Order: sequence, then C-alpha cells, then structure tokens
Amino acid sequence: MSVSEALRVQPPIAESRTGIVKVTGMISSYKDLHVMIVGWTGVCPYCRKVFHKSYDKPHFQAPEMLLKICDNVDAPEHPEALKDAKESDKEGLFMDDDGNKMKLEFDKDGKIKRQRVYLRTNFEFIDAVEVDLQDTEKHEEITTLKTLLFGDDIKDVRLGERVVTAGRIWIELLTSHKDARLHKRLYTHS
Ligand SMILES: [Zn+2]
Repeated sequence: MSVSEALRVQPPIAESRTGIVKVTGMISSYKDLHVMIVGWTGVCPYCRKVFHKSYDKPHFQAPEMLLKICDNVDAPEHPEALKDAKESDKEGLFMDDDGNKMKLEFDKDGKIKRQRVYLRTNFEFIDAVEVDLQDTEKHEEITTLKTLLFGDDIKDVRLGERVVTAGRIWIELLTSHKDARLHKRLYTHS
C-alpha cells in the first residue's frame, strides 16, 4: 500500500498497533543511526538459570528496571534463607558477618528455605534508523510516515530511495514534540 493508505489504517479496537502492513514509499529524510532496546537477558549468579524477554516492539529508552528475581526458588545453589534467632532458639544457630545470631528457615515440609536472589541482567540492543517515508506518486498534500528500519535495512539508506517495507504501525505519543501529539510510526521487521 502507499504511504497515505498506510496512514489511514486503524488498529483494532483496544489495541495501539495495526496488523502487518506492507508499505511502498520514498525516503524523504532520515536521522542518524541509533540503538534501541529489544529485550533483556538475565542469568542467576547462583543456579545459572537463564531468563530472556523480547519486547513486542523496540524501545527508545529502558521500559523497565532490570531488578529481576530468580524464580528457581528451591535451587540448592541459592544461599539459605536466614532469620534473626530468638533467645530461646538453640538449634541451627550461627553468626552472620556482623556477629548477629541467625537461624536457618525451613518450609512446612522441613526443607531449608532458600533466598530470593537477583539475576545479572542486561538489555539487548538493535541498531535502528528512523526515516520519513513519503508517497512515490505526487500528491497535493505531502504526508510522511515515520518509519523505523532495522538490521540489513539500515545499510545504504539514501534520500529519494524507493523502499518496500513491512511491519506494524503503532500509535504513540512522541514526547520529544512540544505539543505532544499522537503519531503513527511504522516499526518494520528486523
Ligand atoms: Zn537461581
């Protein structure tokens, strides 16, 4: 479809993105290559379990904190959970690094409880270039579709180049704009 047709596609009710659209347009402007966040990977420093999350769409900025806890709660590699000992406690006592009397915790089946431990996490990134796509046919009104290109598509981006690209159009608030209007932006497949 053309750029002006793509700009008229509406997302399904209660969704902020369209289905896959295939758009033909001409690159009328582009910005410098930048990096976007596509997900994260975490590894438990104790049991080595690996966690991974891919986002629905790439983000310009970190969309969340990466304080993630290992869900492998019974892993014997996790340190034992400890609680402060009472005066009456006699068994299972030991001193922690600060000289406090501590005691192991047990669950109702008598198994040693393990600590909830944080993963070592890192975001995953992708190179991206934002271009404006314009209709290849002449129109009285010049409309452009903000489009993000990824992967091989970012090589040799040239002004005036005709491209055929596919992805989903998201409706989003461009907060860099002082008027903070809602815009449509095409996220192509990487
Ligand atoms: Zn773990």
